Amino acid sequence: MKKIEQFMAEVINKNPGEKEFHQAVKEVAESVMPVIEANPKYEKAKVLERMVEPERVIIFRVPWQDDKGEIHVNRGFRIQMNSAIGPYKGGLRLHPSVNLGVLKFLAFEQVFKNSLTTLPMGGAKGGSDFDPKGKSDSEVMRFCQSFMTELQKYIGPNTDVPAGDIGTGGREIGFMFGQYRRLRNEFTGVLTGKGLNWGGSLIRPEATGYGCVYFVQEMLKTKGESLKGKVCAVSGSGNVAQYTVEKLLELGAKVVTLSDSDGFIHDEDGIDLKELKCVLNIKNVKRGRIKECANEFKCKYYEKKKPWSVKCDIAFPSATQNEISGDDAKTLVKNGCIAVGEGANMPTTPEGIKVFQKAKILYAPGKAANAGGVATSGLEMSQNSMRLSWSREEVDSKLHDIMIKIHENCVRYGKEKSGYVNYVNGANIGGFVKVADAMIDQGVV
Ligand code: NDP
Repeated sequence: MKKIEQFMAEVINKNPGEKEFHQAVKEVAESVMPVIEANPKYEKAKVLERMVEPERVIIFRVPWQDDKGEIHVNRGFRIQMNSAIGPYKGGLRLHPSVNLGVLKFLAFEQVFKNSLTTLPMGGAKGGSDFDPKGKSDSEVMRFCQSFMTELQKYIGPNTDVPAGDIGTGGREIGFMFGQYRRLRNEFTGVLTGKGLNWGGSLIRPEATGYGCVYFVQEMLKTKGESLKGKVCAVSGSGNVAQYTVEKLLELGAKVVTLSDSDGFIHDEDGIDLKELKCVLNIKNVKRGRIKECANEFKCKYYEKKKPWSVKCDIAFPSATQNEISGDDAKTLVKNGCIAVGEGANMPTTPEGIKVFQKAKILYAPGKAANAGGVATSGLEMSQNSMRLSWSREEVDSKLHDIMIKIHENCVRYGKEKSGYVNYVNGANIGGFVKVADAMIDQGVV
């Protein structure tokens, strides 16, 4: 434990104020330190010390004009964290809360997640403190074009392939892809999450949500359980939440909540497909608030509250980091929650994780449970390289197989003597070993 404290003191000293990054590094360090101690080659090669230092951090100015001609300046970032096992890969987040520490935590997590997918992808993350909410399509386009004008210098299909994340959906990827193509005069798989008729993959929009549900299905199987009839609380109402709900409904579960940053809706009878369609329309087309769905469904709406007080069997946090506090976790466990599948990245605080693990419930950390999104981005890259498209069934079946393999890997590295599977250790160690070995093979770089 002394070693971790010393290691963390150095990380904090070198990266002051980046609290989300410290949190993500500490969680991994706690899992992998025993492996490092048992394998002197990792210690000698200073693998973990190298892993916490990004290979490259790019920060740039993004000026753009709004519809009235007024000039705005945002900050753009790309954190190229680790490319030992493949080109950098990771999403672009557009949200006012974006800063260096948040993106470094996401890039760090991405390295382990991408390693777990079994595909050859390094880890990166990027984005801007630009808020697409309340902006016109033309304003979003001008921002995306300005952002890509600078970013294109540092990315490419064999170097770094960004994708979507919070605030970056199909519309934004389209504007960025258009600008890349225009500046570079090449049509290439430089971004994933593209539209279907310009290089996108079937199932990519669904992949993170579907994958998370597949992972939870595997966890439940270890207890002889299934999703049928299970009451599920989902947070968020964006890309990940929407397709989590779709797959849950298909598998016979009952979804009772959805949320956004203003509050959550609670539908005791369960959200059905018709209501989900309405959510998709309000969120993806009208770009409105979840509250409007409550009016349509005639269900309860709780302003500025999170859904974790609602009784459920399974929780799917699918909005943002640190959305389940220690107290939220206690409430979930008290109300009989048996499993948590993290669609979002690091949605549970360290205190919350301790509560879930102490209660020995099935707890799947985001870097394992939501890896289906980036895995399917990897499949999009393969299709782009081969210049062909796989069918919906083909991609879905590959995604399903990958999620099963990730689950097996977590069990392999995370099963304790008592039989309890510590999925946090499983994911961290499983992800670490492959990258660490590749780094050692490639010398001091
Ligand atoms: P979207 O932008 O599509 O949706 C985000 C949702 O989360 C919205 O409902 C949003 O509400 C809510 N939200 C965002 N920030 C906050 C906040 N600070 N407090 C409360 N609610 C918030 O993003 P995604 O669905 O793509 O991403 C959701 C999570 O999943 C993120 O953690 C992301 O990193 C992770 N993830 C996404 C992947 C993908 O393929 N898209 C892959 C792997 C992980 P509002 O509309 O009010 O902002």
